[in-house]
Amino acid sequence: MVERMCHVCRTMRPKSALIRVVRTPDGAFCVDAVGKIDGRGCYVCREGDCVAKGVKSRYLNRAFKCVVEQEVYQEVVRYAGEQ
Ligand SMILES: [Zn+2]
Repeated sequence: MVERMCHVCRTMRPKSALIRVVRTPDGAFCVDAVGKIDGRGCYVCREGDCVAKGVKSRYLNRAFKCVVEQEVYQEVVRYAGEQ
């Protein structure tokens, strides 16, 4: 089973338990619902507090070392709420 680390709580989890945000080669950010989009990815737990904590601490900014737009965070929150 492929495991990845949640960037917020630093726990290794199966990919299915995580939400992946990816920076595509053209510099855009999006939630990778299928887990197959090319680019550098960053993971956060689907369940629990990690999404809320991560949004608060701007975890994507730290992960990608740049300013990630609020809309991307909102997309993660929305996606987490749908699961
Ligand atoms: Zn986590």
